[in-house]
Amino acid sequence: MSSHTAEVVICGAGIAGIAAAYHLAVRRGVRGIVLVDERPPLSLTSDKSTECYRNWWPGPGDDMVALMNRSIDLLEELARESGNAFRMNRRGYLFATADPAQVSVFVERAREAEARGVGPTRIHRRGASDYRPAPADGFENQPTGVDVITDPALALRHFPYLAPDTLAVLHARRCGWFSGQQLGMYLLERAREAGVRLLEGRLERIDARGGRVRSVRVSARGGEMTIATPRFVDAAGPFFAPVARLLGVEVPVFCERHAKVAFNDSLGAMPRSAPMTIWTDPVTLPWSDEERRDLAASAEHKRLVEEFPAGVHGRPEGAGESPVVLLIWTYDAGGVPFSPAAGRRRRRLLHEDPREPVPGGPLADRGRLRAGGPLRLRPDGLQRRGRSAGRPHHGAPPSGVRAGVPLVPVRRPGVP
Ligand SMILES: Cc1cc2nc3c(=O)[nH]c(=O)nc-3n(C[C@H](O)[C@H](O)[C@H](O)COP(=O)(O)OP(=O)(O)OC[C@H]3O[C@@H](n4cnc5c(N)ncnc54)[C@H](O)[C@@H]3O)c2cc1C
Repeated sequence: MSSHTAEVVICGAGIAGIAAAYHLAVRRGVRGIVLVDERPPLSLTSDKSTECYRNWWPGPGDDMVALMNRSIDLLEELARESGNAFRMNRRGYLFATADPAQVSVFVERAREAEARGVGPTRIHRRGASDYRPAPADGFENQPTGVDVITDPALALRHFPYLAPDTLAVLHARRCGWFSGQQLGMYLLERAREAGVRLLEGRLERIDARGGRVRSVRVSARGGEMTIATPRFVDAAGPFFAPVARLLGVEVPVFCERHAKVAFNDSLGAMPRSAPMTIWTDPVTLPWSDEERRDLAASAEHKRLVEEFPAGVHGRPEGAGESPVVLLIWTYDAGGVPFSPAAGRRRRRLLHEDPREPVPGGPLADRGRLRAGGPLRLRPDGLQRRGRSAGRPHHGAPPSGVRAGVPLVPVRRPGVP
C-alpha cells in the first residue's frame, strides 16, 4: 500500500465535487487537493440533468431564493470569463394555464415571489404592454423577476405554440439552462491547472479517530493507497449517505428517482427558441374513442386514460437543427435505494418534492380535465409550420409530444 498526503480530499467528481475543487483551488488558492472518483468525471448523475437553473423557488422564507441568486451570480461570472463556453441562456420558465381559477393564482404567486427576492412582478393585462420576450441565446441585460400575462390574446401572440385555450402565462425570468457537462469540464480544467489531482479509484475507508479526519483509503487501479489528510469533502452524489457513514455520521438524505425523456420533435410542435415550458393544469391524453376503449379494458393500461397530474414540462435541447425535446413529468418518486443499473433499466418518470413551486393551487382544486397532448401545444401549429402531423400511434390524433406518455401510476405532481 502506498502513502500520500493531501490538504483536502474530495470524494466525487460530479458537478458538486468539481465545483468544490475549482472554488478551493482557483478562487481560494488552496493547494494539495485530491479529487477521487471511481468513474469518469461527470458520468453518474451530472450528465443526466436537464441542466436548468432558476431563482424561482417557493418559501417558506427566502433561503432558497438567496442561495440561487448567489449561485446564478457565480454562473454568470463563469459564463463571462469563459466567453460563455457552457452556453448559458436566460429563456426563463414559462408556466401556462387554461384554468380561469389559476389566473389570479399566477398573479398572487408572482407577488409572493417578489417578496422573497425573485425580482419585480410585471402584470400585463392588455395587448399594448411592455412585455419583453427572452432571447434564445445569451443571458446579459435581461429582466429579473416575473412577467404575468393575463390577456389570453397577448399570451398567445408571444407563445403561439401553446394550446388555443391558454388563458394566462407566468414567465419567471432569472431562469434558463446551460450545458452542465461543459461547465463541469471548464471548472475541472481550471482546477487541474491550479494543481488539483484527479485520482481514479474507489474511496473505501475514512480514518476519523478522535473526531478528526486523518486519512482516507482508496482502492485505485495501481492498488490500495492511503492519503493522509485533515480535510474531507463528501460529494458522492447518490452515495452521499453511505460515504458519510464511513465518517461515522448518519445523514438523513435519501435518493429520489428523476428521469427524463429525450425524443425527436419531428413535427416541430415546440419552437427551438422556447423557454422551459410548464403546463400547470392536470391533463388527459387525447386518445381516440377506439383507443380509449381498448386502454380502459386493460388493467395494465387503463391509467393512461385517467387524469395525469399538473406540471408536465419540457424544453428544446441542442443547437442549430437539433430536433430534440426533453420532456419531464415529475411525480411518483419516493425514497429509493440507489442503483445505477436499476435506474437505467426502469425508464420511469419519477420525482417528488412537495415544495416545488407550481404556481397553481392544490391538485384537487384545479379545474376540469383537459384533452390535448401533455404539454398542451396546439396541434394546428404543426400545419402552420408546413409539417405533416402524421399518426404517432395507431388511431391517435396528432401531437408532437406524445412520446412523453408516462409509464407509472400517478401519485404526486411537481415541477423542475
Ligand atoms: C433526470 C434529471 C434531471 C435533473 N435536472 C436538473 C436540473 O434541471 N437542474 C438542476 O440543477 N439539477 C438537476 N438534476 C439534479 C442534478 O443533476 C444533480 O443534483 C447533480 O448532477 C448532482 O451532482 P453530484 O456531483 O452531487 O453527484 P454525481 O454527479 O452523481 O457525482 C457523484 C460522484 O461521486 C462518485 N462516488 C460516489 N461514491 C464514491 C466512492 N466511494 N468512491 C469514489 N467515487 C465515488 C460517483 O462515481 C460520482 O461520479 C437532475 C437530475 C436528474 C437525474
